[in-house]
Amino acid sequence: MSVPDCITPIVAYRLWVWDVAGLSSLNGVSWIAGQPLAAECKPPRRGTTACSTKQFPHAAPHTDCRCGVYASKRLESLSMSWPWRSVCVRGETWLWGMVVEHEYGWRAQFAYPKTLHVPKSILPITQEQMRSRLKSLAAYRCDVFVRHNGVDIPIWRKDSGFDSAGADFLTNWCRRWYERSGVLTRGDCLTIRGRGTVVVEHSDDTQVHAALGNGERLLLLRKNVTWNEANRRWESNGSVFKIFEC
Ligand SMILES: [Zn+2]
Repeated sequence: MSVPDCITPIVAYRLWVWDVAGLSSLNGVSWIAGQPLAAECKPPRRGTTACSTKQFPHAAPHTDCRCGVYASKRLESLSMSWPWRSVCVRGETWLWGMVVEHEYGWRAQFAYPKTLHVPKSILPITQEQMRSRLKSLAAYRCDVFVRHNGVDIPIWRKDSGFDSAGADFLTNWCRRWYERSGVLTRGDCLTIRGRGTVVVEHSDDTQVHAALGNGERLLLLRKNVTWNEANRRWESNGSVFKIFEC
């Protein structure tokens, strides 16, 4: 295994966790906007095989260690079915400096995001949240997309800033959620404390009829059902009545 010093950056793929502070690795390491992420080798912990070089500390990445900034050679290697996939930003990253090559990816000394693709499932639902969250992504000054109906919609362009088509999409996205948040409709899932999740069969201004997985049908008062924005789901803490069919 060789450790080349790359003058020309490698483009590879990875996932990030996204919050108001920006991007971070799945292990919690922050990727600060505007500055490369430099790999570090952490001290080996007792009972782990994190570093087998016996030469700690050393420059990262080391061929006989696991340190370095990880990225995959192929987008498919991020695994479509991996649960993180639906809750993470995915994209391309630049890798440079010392690089250790493996079968499916690299461990690099330096990295910086190149393009970012945000799944719709983790987009904020209010205009205010959307503004602050997107500001944290725009700070990386790379192309940002949202995937919708199989198409990558540009949200932010590194050369020209916010994209007008993307801005329209996000405005509509927030408006749809705003309009939707007060309307409980047939087919919605509803979590009832202590009973689990039920599926709404009918809802009006006063009552909600719902079904449990075992077919049992329940009646709830509409005033006890609320949209929990943090959990992004309908919830009820109120009384639940069983419906007995005649
Ligand atoms: Zn190391």
